[in-house]
Amino acid sequence: MRYYSTRDRTTSVDFATAALAGLAPDGGLYVPETVPVLSASVRSSLATMAFHDIAFETTAAFATPDIPASVLADLVRDAYPFGAPLVAAADRLVLELFHGPTAAFKDFGARFMARAFAYLRRGEDKPLRILVATSGDTGGAVADGFHGVEGIEVTVLYPKGRVSPLQERQIAGLGGNVSALAVEGSFDDCQRLVKAAFADRDLLKRHALSSANSINISRLIPQAIYYLAAAGKATAGLVDADGEATPRLGGAPRPAQRTDGGAVVLSVPSGNFGNLTAGLYAKAMGAPIARFVAATNLNKTVPDYLASGNYEPRPSVATISNAMDVGAPSNFERMTAHWSYAELGRLILGAYVSDDRTRETIARVRDVSGYVLDPHGAVGWKALDDLETRDDRLAPVRVVLATAHPAKFAETVEPIVGAIPVPASLKATMGRTVRAATIPAELPALADALDALAK
Ligand SMILES: *Cc1c(COP(=O)(O)O)cnc(C)c1O
Repeated sequence: MRYYSTRDRTTSVDFATAALAGLAPDGGLYVPETVPVLSASVRSSLATMAFHDIAFETTAAFATPDIPASVLADLVRDAYPFGAPLVAAADRLVLELFHGPTAAFKDFGARFMARAFAYLRRGEDKPLRILVATSGDTGGAVADGFHGVEGIEVTVLYPKGRVSPLQERQIAGLGGNVSALAVEGSFDDCQRLVKAAFADRDLLKRHALSSANSINISRLIPQAIYYLAAAGKATAGLVDADGEATPRLGGAPRPAQRTDGGAVVLSVPSGNFGNLTAGLYAKAMGAPIARFVAATNLNKTVPDYLASGNYEPRPSVATISNAMDVGAPSNFERMTAHWSYAELGRLILGAYVSDDRTRETIARVRDVSGYVLDPHGAVGWKALDDLETRDDRLAPVRVVLATAHPAKFAETVEPIVGAIPVPASLKATMGRTVRAATIPAELPALADALDALAK
């Protein structure tokens, strides 16, 4: 597969170049030349295929021959010792994307990217140093994804005192090839520092630097896997048993069951729109998906665009679903590189949800079903409720993507529903010791820290 920049269709690169570079030299995002369509035999057996087999078929279409098929088969097994159960709650299905080590869907992208980088960099003598700036969630998933991966060092910059204790342990509690810098400043300062490092020639001579932010195509592609798996099951009426970390209060875990199945709509809690873009890829590859809901909090740039045709990025506003506080979603450029406004209007229904209604939804869903949504998943649930009253294009089988475990946002969720069980992965994380060097928000301080780490 070849990839071109969203801003220049005349020159294409291979998967290795697109993945290792992250951003194209012209500032655009890499997109595949075409979205590959899965074979008819794979498409007709999605409901019953093993997760790893779907993972292999999905990623092989994008990453071979740069990563050979035999390597890829082992790579996806190693990346995904967990799956994505599709469980029932009230009259809907919930696609649980939080069974990975950091309890959010970003584990799917980060763990594939880390292993892809390790393979693509094999035989290089200088280790690759990944620099990531984070406001909280991304840093944890990237740190965890790369932890212990050979030939790669990770340095995460986070705003000192502005991430939760759990997030800080996910970022700065691993050690080994993962180091953390607590920056005296804001998330924007962290991002500015990373950009400045990539623009500094002397620093680039001393270190092989790369980024791992959410616009990297190698993080996006593996997110198509769970859409293909879930759409296959939901269409066929197969519902999974509750997983180990399924947040259901009161009553026993639910066993696997069968329903009528039918056409499927998926509601995707969205911020930077990487997840929804991966869903669009999955549909184009042949996933049986009728439509998507783009569910946002008050950062509703994309729902507004779908309603009016005008794209107006704006500064973000703070909400309780803070991983979606994005006013200028970077993957919008990718969506519109593949699909016109009219096409996106047929594929996606938009809706946005306030914090008050997000809280009400967490309470109501828990009351009617025992299921506890996190604030992001609750936005997805409520967006479907709203569209049910005013749009007749919703398909009968309704799936909400649960992008994080509610225990990750206990400070918001527990005052509403009471104590919730903490998944084993998060319990282990809380026991870690934070080791981070504090630096002022200035490039010379970052350069010194990187030189010290390389010794
Ligand atoms: C990152 C994140 C989102 C938003 O995903 P995008 O791909 O940026 O749209 C939603 N929920 C959670 C929990 C997240 O961490």
